[in-house]
Amino acid sequence: MHTSTKNVDPILKLRGVVKHFGSLQVIKGVDLDIHHSEVICLIGPSGSGKSTLLRSMAFLEHYDEGEIYIEGQLLGWQPGPLRRLTSRSQLNQVRRNVGMVFQQFNLWPHMSVLGNVIEALVQVRKLPQTEARAKGLTMLDRVGLVHKADAYPAQLSGGQQQRVAIARALAMEPKIMLFDEPTSALDPELVGEVLQVMKSLAADGMTMVVVTHEMGFAAQVADRVAFLDQGKIAVCGSPEKIFHNNEHPRLQQFLQNYLDRNAFWQDKKEEQII
Ligand code: ADP
Ligand code: MG
Repeated sequence: MHTSTKNVDPILKLRGVVKHFGSLQVIKGVDLDIHHSEVICLIGPSGSGKSTLLRSMAFLEHYDEGEIYIEGQLLGWQPGPLRRLTSRSQLNQVRRNVGMVFQQFNLWPHMSVLGNVIEALVQVRKLPQTEARAKGLTMLDRVGLVHKADAYPAQLSGGQQQRVAIARALAMEPKIMLFDEPTSALDPELVGEVLQVMKSLAADGMTMVVVTHEMGFAAQVADRVAFLDQGKIAVCGSPEKIFHNNEHPRLQQFLQNYLDRNAFWQDKKEEQII
């Protein structure tokens, strides 16, 4: 009987999560279990609440109702009449377990690539410099950028900067990585290298939630795809179910818009070639 509850509980469990901004309810009761090594892609129209949901999972945003558990432990904004925030030290402890990568990479411009990756290791985790540097170089190697360790962010392409941001998040050894449209700010030719790094993380068993408009990536890498519509998970299932076998009119419309837009750009490209 050596089964620890750690392996049984989902890494993240959301129950009835509700979030308002003022009088606007943006998350309207979300239930979701994210298991170890699972990759979940979150898709949905602009304004449907994808970023807010992800930020809640990272405890960067308080939620108003419901519960979010990390490995079985209830955290964050406690429900019920005695609402209170988990203590700051507890919250910091949790945040360490959750790595987050944003659309904007937000690297420190005055620090080297390695400096960016090890900053939190030194400042937050209090690792000695030599240990932090060794770990930082390992993480840069993981994203194929160890040769850029001494470069500055401005000397890198957007795709390379985002890979540094991924290395920075990985350096904290999170249990789960959350990505919020990690390739949306990139020129099209730089998207592939970032998706490639994410694919290899998934193959290594990293638990991930990815908000993305890259449907090819979702179809290929996700274990499950969740379609968020007006603050609710309207449909959740295998890529096969979501992309080829769904009977949900709003999802069908969303996917059709996506295909139309891509076809539009494809036409433009062909026009240019002619
Ligand atoms: P998505 O990421 O799917 O585009 P968001 O989570 O960013 O959606 O936003 C969901 C809704 O919440 C939108 O109507 C947005 O305008 C609103 N919203 C997001 N952040 C804030 C905020 N800090 N203050 C007020 N309203 C917000
Ligand atoms: Mg968003």
